[in-house]
Amino acid sequence: MKVPFIDMKARHAPLKAEFMRVIGQVIDSGAFAGGPYVERFEKEFAQFCGTRHAVAVGSGTEALWLALVALGIGPGDEVVTVPMTFAATVEAICLAGAKPVFADIDERTYTMDPESLEQVITPRTRAVVPVHLFGQVADMEPILRIAENHDLRVIEDAAQAHGAEYRGRRAGSLGDAGCFSFYPAKNLGAFGDAGAVVTQDEETASKLRLLRDHGQSGKNRHTVIGWNSRMDGIQAAVLSLKLRHLEEENEARRRHAAAYHRALAEVSGVILPRTGPGRRHAHHIYALRALDRRPLVWAFDEAEIGYGIHYPVPVHLQPAYRILGHKRGDFPVAERCASQFISLPMYPELAPEAIESVAEAVRQACGSLSVV
Ligand SMILES: *Cc1c(COP(=O)(O)O)cnc(C)c1O
Repeated sequence: MKVPFIDMKARHAPLKAEFMRVIGQVIDSGAFAGGPYVERFEKEFAQFCGTRHAVAVGSGTEALWLALVALGIGPGDEVVTVPMTFAATVEAICLAGAKPVFADIDERTYTMDPESLEQVITPRTRAVVPVHLFGQVADMEPILRIAENHDLRVIEDAAQAHGAEYRGRRAGSLGDAGCFSFYPAKNLGAFGDAGAVVTQDEETASKLRLLRDHGQSGKNRHTVIGWNSRMDGIQAAVLSLKLRHLEEENEARRRHAAAYHRALAEVSGVILPRTGPGRRHAHHIYALRALDRRPLVWAFDEAEIGYGIHYPVPVHLQPAYRILGHKRGDFPVAERCASQFISLPMYPELAPEAIESVAEAVRQACGSLSVV
């Protein structure tokens, strides 16, 4: 059975009439950039995350960048993050004028290793950006403790973790600010680019509102150097509609992950994703690890099964970041995972037969006996 890596059509078809209706409302209202639809979505998303504020912005990358700026991070500061992430996390730190410093990831959860964080802190360290990779919240308790001891701001990169939880609290609500992307393929996706920062802190929220709108504290009064990072009214209306389905969609992803787990538990040669204690995974990405992923790639290509590799080259080895002076071997866990990861199809509409086809291809590739 042919299985796409992600199925956008299946995701949107059932709600198409409703999408057309809410987009029509925005057209009639003329509220295209910012405005009442954005304000409504901000309220709903803050409530969803369990934070007092949400500030809608243009993308996840801008959410990270503006959150750093709003929290006072700038030139001369060091910000610790992980090399196993999408490049945007590191870009945002650089755009804020700060220097990215890397801590390795934990081999079981693929999120920041708190011990590694502790080792790279210097007198110039001002902030830490844990990444909730694949939809699993990083081990925030020790990270927050270390941050407190060293007076560091904590900015969560929750771009892959809408609705994920850590000890009963939602991703994005644990640090000083939580940054989300609504890129179409994320668990909560717009019809284009969009993002948001959530925070409990009123002052951070008002700084963000200034920064995203040209630093304007009132019409024609520019109190800080800002940027244009407003969310579109159409995106906000679409996101409000989709937010109502997010819980059940994340629940479906968890069911699919459990089905993969059952189907692959006996396969030798692959490491299945694990959920750390106290965590509720949002399964944005379902990544296996294989010592040699080539047979899996061949089997998926043969069976017309979509797959992804998140991420084949850790950020510290990307050409753009050579300037940081890292070499192979600096972050062994991130590098090992980068060479072993392969992501299976994962989306709420994934059918049980599709999961079985994918599992069968994995079993064949790994040379284990098929149980069918
Ligand atoms: C998607 C993503 C981003 C960037 O979000 P955009 O909306 O594409 O700018 C940042 N960090 C991580 C971990 C992501 O997956």
